[in-house]
Amino acid sequence: MRWFTADLHVHTDLSPCAKAMSPGQIVRAAEEAGVDFIAICDHNSAANVAAVQAAAASKVGILPGLEVNTREEVHLVCLFDHLEGALALQEVVYRELPGENDEGIFGPQWLYNEEGERIGLERRLLAGSCRLSMQAVIAFVDRLGGLVIAPHPERTYGGIIGVLGFIPKDVKLGAIEMPLGWLKDFCLRGIPGVIASDAHRVEEIGPHMAFYMERIGLREMDCAWRGLKGHRTHPKFLMVKEALER
Ligand SMILES: [Zn+2]
Ligand SMILES: [Zn+2]
Repeated sequence: MRWFTADLHVHTDLSPCAKAMSPGQIVRAAEEAGVDFIAICDHNSAANVAAVQAAAASKVGILPGLEVNTREEVHLVCLFDHLEGALALQEVVYRELPGENDEGIFGPQWLYNEEGERIGLERRLLAGSCRLSMQAVIAFVDRLGGLVIAPHPERTYGGIIGVLGFIPKDVKLGAIEMPLGWLKDFCLRGIPGVIASDAHRVEEIGPHMAFYMERIGLREMDCAWRGLKGHRTHPKFLMVKEALER
C-alpha cells in the first residue's frame, strides 16, 4: 500500500461557471500540484471525462463522475470506477434535465474530444436541476457500483445542509465534503468527511486529500475513509508527508 493524493471534485470547461479548464490544462495543473488522481464531475454531465482521461494518459488517475443537481436543488457528486457508469447516469440525468443554456447568463459549455480540441457547445442547461430526487440518484448510482459524496454541504446553493437544513435519514451518502476546519473529529451519523477543491479554475486543483491504499478505486477509498483493513486517509498531504518522513 502507499499514499495517493487526490482532488475528488474538479470541473471542466463544460461547466458554465468554470474558466480555462481544458483537459490539457487540468492534467498539467494536477501534475504540477502533485496530485495522483482527480475526479472529473461537471454539472449534470460526464461528457468531457473521456477527453480528460485521454489527456491524462498514465500521468494522473481520473475517476469519472457527475455533479448531479437534484430536484431538491441539492448537488451530489457521483463517482465511478469506469466511464460506463458515469455515462449511464448521464443518460438518465439528460432525460430529466429541462431547459436550454443561455450563454449570456451562465457562460459557454465547451465539449472536448480525446485530442483535447473543442468540438462544440452543449446546449442543455447543465447548471439547472434535473427532475430526479436525491434518493433516486443515490439508488441509481448504488446499482451502478458508484459512490455519492455531498459537496459543499454548508452552502445555501446546492449544499445539502444549506438547502434542506439537515440530512434526511433515508439519504445514504458515501461521504460528505467538509470545509477543512470541520474535518477534525468529524462524525455525522457515521458519514466520512472528505476534502476536495470543487475546482472551477486550475489553480484550485490540489492534493487536498491523501489515501493510504493499494490502488486507485472507489472500494479502496471507501476502506480508507472508514479506516478498514489498514487503509486510512489524511486531509492535508503536507502533514502526511511530514509524518511519513519523521
Ligand atoms: Zn456544487
Ligand atoms: Zn462542483
